[in-house]
Amino acid sequence: MKSQKNILIVGGVAGGASCAARARRLSEEARIVLFEKGPFVSFANCGLPYYVGDVIKKEEALLMATPSLFAKRFNIEVRLKSEVMSIDRERCEIEVADLSDPLSGGDGKRYREKYDALVLSPGASPVRLRVPGAELPGIFTVRNIPDSRQIKEWIAKSGARKAMVVGGSFIGLEMTENLSALGLEVTIAEILPQVMPLMDPEMISPVHDELRRRGVSLRLGDEVVGFERLPDGSIFVLMKSGETEKTDMVIMGIGVRPETKLAREAGLEIGELGGIRVNDQMATSDPKIWAVGDAVEVRDFVTGQWALMPLAGPANRQGRLAADVITGRDRRFRGSQGTFVCGVFDLTVACVGPGEKLLKKLGTWDKYEKIYLHPGHHALYFPGAKTLSLKLIFSKEDGRVAGAQAVGQQGVDKRIDVISMAIQNNATVFDLEEAELCYAPQFGSAKDPVNMAGMIASNVMRGDVDVAQWEEVEGTDAFILDVREPSEFAKGHFDNAVNIPLGDLRARMSELPKDREIWAYCLVGQRSYYAARTLSQHLFKTKTLSGGYRTHVGRRDSVKPEK
Ligand code: FAD
Repeated sequence: MKSQKNILIVGGVAGGASCAARARRLSEEARIVLFEKGPFVSFANCGLPYYVGDVIKKEEALLMATPSLFAKRFNIEVRLKSEVMSIDRERCEIEVADLSDPLSGGDGKRYREKYDALVLSPGASPVRLRVPGAELPGIFTVRNIPDSRQIKEWIAKSGARKAMVVGGSFIGLEMTENLSALGLEVTIAEILPQVMPLMDPEMISPVHDELRRRGVSLRLGDEVVGFERLPDGSIFVLMKSGETEKTDMVIMGIGVRPETKLAREAGLEIGELGGIRVNDQMATSDPKIWAVGDAVEVRDFVTGQWALMPLAGPANRQGRLAADVITGRDRRFRGSQGTFVCGVFDLTVACVGPGEKLLKKLGTWDKYEKIYLHPGHHALYFPGAKTLSLKLIFSKEDGRVAGAQAVGQQGVDKRIDVISMAIQNNATVFDLEEAELCYAPQFGSAKDPVNMAGMIASNVMRGDVDVAQWEEVEGTDAFILDVREPSEFAKGHFDNAVNIPLGDLRARMSELPKDREIWAYCLVGQRSYYAARTLSQHLFKTKTLSGGYRTHVGRRDSVKPEK
């Protein structure tokens, strides 16, 4: 296929800039023009919270490229402060407003440009609460460098000491960490009973603990219903519960909405979730227009459902792929797995694939099984080992890995990345069991947490052990057997549990019922697995509690109602 002549790209950051640079690498002939309505091209949005928190000191560090670099290195024309206003699909033209033109009265001088291929990468805009006072000065969203600049200026000028972050997802959590680092007292208001709503609640308890340990107040399960400006310049926040809070500034991090105005007005197909509908070559319903990044709906790699996955990795890969297709290569996007990681002070949380919550919502949870483990992030005998908690979700039918979530101080991202790659290759828990991962004691374990997860899940798949889950313990008729040491039992246990330490089990088997199921548990699930293997060989009907008492405790804390 012949290279396209005129490639016009709307949006000059993750998806747009990747697409432009890749298109040039594949076609020296094409004329490539990038339109960006803001004052910067190719900036690092993911670094913005850290710029606010002074971890990234200089604004220039956020600029990955400049128009002159694009011109010199790639022969790509970048037009900043140039908003694409409309698409004339019949004429294959766009209308652009030159916002830098001082004579246009702010609306921008209009002109038209012809395209052979048009790529839309306009991103997603932060959602603002529609409540009284939401537009007051001192209430911010974080999307670009000017937003971050305004936040920094507000803190400096107003001498803000308190901040409320509305929304506990990753931008909210990153802003919380950075505002705290500047010395502000931060409250997170989250409508759900947990922060990081994309993850399952039982995995989030350590994050709540870490936030509280760092002095962050949590208002979980409550909703902001209005803001008012007080005479002293501070902001009065009213919650649905009737509670109130006085703060000096507010960050809204309640999610993003795909920017689809251009696409809608041009009559391009929009999906049910509100993103631009594209095929697996990132083509829209018009074969001359492609769309990538936060603005599009993608297929969830695991569930096959349409999904919005506003993440930098998919945006970059889609931009590259669109350039490949436009310049004549036959490439297909595999779908997104929603792989993400987020730092919360000393903790890291990371996730890949659908969680239990989503699979339940989709009504497909009965096809899946889950296991939990809490291993060291590297060999326990090497100084500095930290516990990480890992949840693995896999198909009951064939062991195919569907998702994983992890939280801990170290080594979390590495495990989720390995599992992410496994999922994209349709790997099973047996592949995780066999994965050959690099090992030295300061980096991992000879049986890495990923191997361990695979081994535990493989045990389940092979029928070596049956698992019971933390949420089933309350109300079960099973005999609950705690195989920890008495000193551990004394510190906390299930109400109805009987304590027989693993070392005494063979000698005390006569105390166990043959006519009831026995659910064995320990702290993390290892000793109870040994117990279950022993007991099942003595013909007791046994299950092991996956992830042990620690998983149960995690869940109990995370659902505790908070003020
Ligand atoms: P964007 O990068 O948002 O670029 C879209 C650009 O299009 C914008 O600059 C906009 O001004 C421009 N535009 C829109 N409409 C027009 C128009 N009509 N004409 C001209 N220009 C237009 N993702 C991660 O994976 N990890 C992270 O740690 C992470 N952290 C983040 C932190 C913050 C504060 C934010 C805001 C986002 C973060 N993201 C993160 C998300 C990630 O930045 C986005 O998924 C990614 O940038 C999307 O790329 P995009 O090209 O679709 O859109």
